[in-house]
Amino acid sequence: MNGLAGIGTRGTEDTKNFDFAKLYMENCIFCKIVKKEIPCVKVYEDENFLAFLDIEPVMDGHLLIIPKEHVVWMQDAEDETISEIFKLSKKLMHAQKISLGCDYVVISVVGKDVPHFHVHLIPRLLNDKFSNWPTKKYQGEEANKIAEKISSAL
Ligand SMILES: [Zn+2]
Repeated sequence: MNGLAGIGTRGTEDTKNFDFAKLYMENCIFCKIVKKEIPCVKVYEDENFLAFLDIEPVMDGHLLIIPKEHVVWMQDAEDETISEIFKLSKKLMHAQKISLGCDYVVISVVGKDVPHFHVHLIPRLLNDKFSNWPTKKYQGEEANKIAEKISSAL
């Protein structure tokens, strides 16, 4: 829930005091799945987490794992939630590899598509030819400057 708390502090005067967290939570498709208001094809569920098939899979067996508690960004989740979701990811990756016959499983945490922290587990084949992220080359001192910027914020 604290995931969107900071958003209200930016933007116009009208948005500064607006409760974005409440708005997003009420309309959050993943919270609706947790509350069983929207169906999902479930693969795993426990007290705190739910894993289900992505409805628009990159590959058959593409899974999403979500904490049942609404939090937008991974960095806003409790440490224990993060630790447990990655342990569960490992378990599900093994199950995907054994059951689907994929060569490996990619793990991805984006969060921009649905504003509720989730982990993608995407089965892959060595020869599936999916393109990777676009890349660039650092120029001159650019890499050092960026690394310093990030480490100074730790
Ligand atoms: Zn949610």
